[in-house]
Amino acid sequence: MNRNLRKTIIAGNWKMNMLASEVEGFSKELAKLVPGFKSWCEAVICAPFVMLPSALNSFINCDVGVGAQNMSQHAGGAYTGEVSGAQLADLGVGYVIIGHSERREYFGETDVSVNEKVHAALNAKLIPIICVGESLKQRDMGITNDLVSMQVKVALHDVKKDDAKGIVIAYEPIWAIGTGMTATPGDAQEVCAVIRKVLASLYGKDVAQAITIQYGGSMNDKNAAELLAQPDIDGGLIGGASLKPETFAAIILAANQ
Ligand code: PEP
Repeated sequence: MNRNLRKTIIAGNWKMNMLASEVEGFSKELAKLVPGFKSWCEAVICAPFVMLPSALNSFINCDVGVGAQNMSQHAGGAYTGEVSGAQLADLGVGYVIIGHSERREYFGETDVSVNEKVHAALNAKLIPIICVGESLKQRDMGITNDLVSMQVKVALHDVKKDDAKGIVIAYEPIWAIGTGMTATPGDAQEVCAVIRKVLASLYGKDVAQAITIQYGGSMNDKNAAELLAQPDIDGGLIGGASLKPETFAAIILAANQ
């Protein structure tokens, strides 16, 4: 990470876990464990839609941002069961995960729909956390860098330079998500550096240097410090280890380096 050039962001992805009644206790515990964290990083919890109001009420007290885990690519209208960017922003939500591999795998999201959602998020003034990453088969084929580069290019198609400054990219190798198999710091750094090169080719070096790139995939209290010490890894997107205040706090503390 390089705090002089860009924000360090530690974001938890609660997926379909936790209950609204558990949020306040979590936030109080977290506040005790990471006093003063704002001097070295931003912390965000991406909660299920139904829990966003309680998350906003509780996390405001400890300065933790709140994000959604998905949103519609449509601005509004007859899309039963969907949630728009404007509706999230109206609640006070600041971030939204776009194109998580679980959405791509189980809900048919594609690079093109990810691009549409990125535009919809930016139109609603939300910060998109755009997920990219390869499967194990693709890694074994030796196409990780090409594939991830293409995912980034499609996700950012027609996104203007001024808007690009406000995005976050999460490099999440699919084989590392929820498996306990973390990428080595060197491998994660290599792909994050490739992503920054792609961003530089699209928007110039200054903008690329200002964009936060997270690593995600079994990041935990034990491996976070080494991953976050890599020059192009500016934070984490954390699933399992974000469900307990102690482990999430330990990762926030590991970002203080
Ligand atoms: C994720 O869901 O984005 C993730 C990285 O999960 P985990 O930390 O559990 O691997």
